Amino acid sequence: MAELQNVLLLAVDALIYFVALAALLRARTRIGLGAFFCALGVMHFLETYLAGILYVALPFGVVTSPGSTVLFTGKLMMLLLLYIREDAAVVRQPIYGLLFGNVLLFVLAFVMRHHTLVALSPGRAADFGFLNEMGALMVWGTAILFFDCILIILLYERARTWFGDRLFARLLACSALVLTFDQVAFYAGLHMLTGAGLNVLVGGWVAKMAAVVLYSGMAAVYLRYFERPLGRRRSAPRIWDIFDTLTYRERYEDLLARTGCDALTGALDRHSLEAHGRRSVEHAAAAGRPLALLFIDLDHFKAFNDRFGHAAGDKALKRIVLDIMAAARVSDFTYRFGGEEFVVIADGVNADDALALAERIRKRIAGAAVAADAHVTVSIGVATCSRDGTDYDTLFGVADKRLYQAKAEGRNRVVGDRPAVRLVAG
Ligand code: GH3
Ligand code: MG
Ligand code: MG
Repeated sequence: MAELQNVLLLAVDALIYFVALAALLRARTRIGLGAFFCALGVMHFLETYLAGILYVALPFGVVTSPGSTVLFTGKLMMLLLLYIREDAAVVRQPIYGLLFGNVLLFVLAFVMRHHTLVALSPGRAADFGFLNEMGALMVWGTAILFFDCILIILLYERARTWFGDRLFARLLACSALVLTFDQVAFYAGLHMLTGAGLNVLVGGWVAKMAAVVLYSGMAAVYLRYFERPLGRRRSAPRIWDIFDTLTYRERYEDLLARTGCDALTGALDRHSLEAHGRRSVEHAAAAGRPLALLFIDLDHFKAFNDRFGHAAGDKALKRIVLDIMAAARVSDFTYRFGGEEFVVIADGVNADDALALAERIRKRIAGAAVAADAHVTVSIGVATCSRDGTDYDTLFGVADKRLYQAKAEGRNRVVGDRPAVRLVAG
């Protein structure tokens, strides 16, 4: 009788836990994700505490702790839901936060053990034995949790090929597999620390599987009826991409984008141009220093793509950026303005030197074969500070106009403040 009551109570625990946290998750669009993350962290602490001391008897001699059955299983399910509704870049935040928080807890508890203590009242002395045990369990549990989280997300994506869009089956399959792995791993640690018997291993597993069924059901209902439809169905992402994001090892391209570089060519990106370019012009104008702005556009590049294909086009773009950089000084900055348009900002370069620089770039590019027998050429508009203007927008406008002029006059040429220059001696 008491055992049946325990089963019922565990189910009520799970229901309260799920409904409360799912409500916070659902409210993320209005109150932010911080509330959900904090609540999850507090539950994580309670979970480890309960797994260390609170065990209940279920029918057929099964013994389990609400800490692992309700809270741990629930937490994995909540993290999976977070991944499904948001993405890997969001879910990795609580995963790493929990890991970090637990290491911190362990370190602080270790230092605090060395305090000289006074008892608050008789019989209320600190139980360091328990704190030590809990600390060790937390570290062990969190280390496994780290693998569990990553594994459950990857398996969820993998399960798409097994079950298609059948949500309940996907949730059930990935969580049952991960929790089986987890139960064995966590039990190994628990056994070493507390000498827990085999019945805890088997009992815990049975209870977790029951919890998995319950949670998968609730999660499927939540996703179907309480979240907006997933909308644009994500095309199956590559498992390794998800893994790289979860472990903060994003693709090189993503890292480049964050450092202000263009992913294809490695030139600085448009965003950097708006920030640095503008500032460079302001500083040069204020200091009375000359500065040159070159606006470079590839000639008939659409035709090049049409003839040789876009892959060859991309290769040509990379090659051209290398040519620009080689022709410029190391202190000049090369930006990708748009598709096949580049901007060079050369601080300290006057109008004459700017024309020479532009011509060097033009010749270098025209001279290099980029794809089989194909040559790409560029047209360049040049503007200089302070002759053509003393702010970025004016300089850019002038260079843009001169670029158009270079195109109109036949392409593969440089136009500066003097008439179009086609070939400069040397
Ligand atoms: P124009 O001499 O007048 O500049 O002719 P154009 O064909 O270069 O001019 P337009 O601006 O019409 O075409 C630009 C082309 O550049 C269109 C597009 O196919 C190509 N392009 C833009 N970005 C990329 C890219 O990242 N890779 C490749 N392969 N091609 C690109
Ligand atoms: Mg263009
Ligand atoms: Mg072009």
